[in-house]
Amino acid sequence: MRNTHIGIIGGGQLGMLLVQAAIPFPCRVSVYDPNPSCSAAVFSDSFTQGAFDDEESIVEFGRGCDAVIFEIEQVNVGALLELEAAGVRVVSSARSLEWIQNKALQREVLAQHGFPGPHFERLSANDLGNYSGPFPVVQKWETGGYDGKGVQIHADLESLMTAEPRDSLLEENVAIEKELSLLLAANDSGDVVFYSPTEMVFDSQLNLLDYLIAPARISVEIQSEMEVLGRKLVEELKLVGVYAIEFFLTKSGELLVNEISPRVHNSGHHTVSANVCSQYEQQIRIALGLPLGSTQMLHHSLLANLISDQSSGLTNYVGLEAAYALPGVQLTFYGKNEVRPGRKMGHAIIQAGDLNLALEQLQQLRTTLTITSHD
Ligand code: ADP
Repeated sequence: MRNTHIGIIGGGQLGMLLVQAAIPFPCRVSVYDPNPSCSAAVFSDSFTQGAFDDEESIVEFGRGCDAVIFEIEQVNVGALLELEAAGVRVVSSARSLEWIQNKALQREVLAQHGFPGPHFERLSANDLGNYSGPFPVVQKWETGGYDGKGVQIHADLESLMTAEPRDSLLEENVAIEKELSLLLAANDSGDVVFYSPTEMVFDSQLNLLDYLIAPARISVEIQSEMEVLGRKLVEELKLVGVYAIEFFLTKSGELLVNEISPRVHNSGHHTVSANVCSQYEQQIRIALGLPLGSTQMLHHSLLANLISDQSSGLTNYVGLEAAYALPGVQLTFYGKNEVRPGRKMGHAIIQAGDLNLALEQLQQLRTTLTITSHD
C-alpha cells in the first residue's frame, strides 16, 4: 500500500477534514471539486476541477486512484459504479448511493427491509394536488434538497398545491422528542464499529444544526436499539464505509429512521478530538484496506456550527482573538473567503465535563465571535 493514491470527490469541509486525517498515512491525496478554491484543495497533493455530474471526468479522475472517497451525495453514481467495476475501491459503497440519492427511493428501500420510519407516500410533481392523506404533511423533494432546503411542512392542500412542483416524498409529520445520529464504520471483512450516538438540536429559523451533544442523553435501551438497526442496515444492504443514520425519537418513545448518509457526516466532527479514531480516519483506513480504529469516547463534547450573519461579501472574523482565548473551545474554520447570509463557516467543539458549562461556553463564544462581511 506504499504511496497508495486516494481521490476525494468533494472538497468542502468534509473533504478538508478527510485530507487532514490522511496526512499521517503512507498515501497521497487528490481532490476533485468544481471549485478550485474549495476548502480542501490547498491541502491536497493535487487538485482536479470538474463537475459532480460529469461522468467522464469523474471516471478519469478515479482511474488514477487506488481508492475514491466521496464526501457529497450529488455525485454521478454511474461513474462510481464504473470505477468500482474497474477495481478502484469506492467508499462508502457506490451501490448504496444509488438508493440514498433519492429520498423517496431511500424510504422505499428502508421500508422493504423493515426499518421503522414515518408513514409516507410518493407523488410526482404533477400529482401533488391528488394527495389525500392527513395534514400537516412534510414534503421533501425526491432529489436536489440538502440541509433542510427542499423540506417543507404544509398545513393544508392549498399550501401543498402552491409548493414548487417537484417529484416529492410526502411524510407523516412526526412528533419529535429528539433527533439523534448514529455514526458507524464498516469494512469489507464484515467488521462494524459504532460511535456513541449524538443528539442534534436544530435552529428552527435557519433550519440548520444548532449544536449537538455527544453522547446523546438517551437510555441504554434506545442506544442498543439504534445499534441493532445499524448492524441490520450494514448486513442486509452490504454496506462498506462510514455511514450516519439519522433517527427521530418520537414523543411516544418510538425510534424511526429519518435518513442515511453514505459518508462522513457533520454530526461527527467532534470525533476528531472526542474519540480515539475519528470518523475521517476511519474512512481513510477503509479506503486503504486497513483495520477499523477504536471508537472509544475520551470525553463528552458539544459541537456547534459557526454561522455567518445576514451579510454578504468578503469574510471578516470579528472577535477572533477573544474566541481563541476561551478555554476548552476548539475552533475549525473552513477557509471560505466569502460569507452569504447564514452560511456555515466552521464549527466549534467544546470539551464538556459538564453540559451546562459547555452551553455557557457556547453562549460566550457566540457573543464573542461574529462572522460577517468587510462591507
Ligand atoms: P435534510 O437532508 O435536507 O437535512 P431531513 O430529511 O433531515 O432533510 O429534514 C430536515 C429536518 O426536517 C429534520 O432534521 C427534521 O427536523 C424535520 N423533519 C424531516 N422529516 C420530518 C418528519 N417526517 N416529521 C417531522 N419533522 C421532520
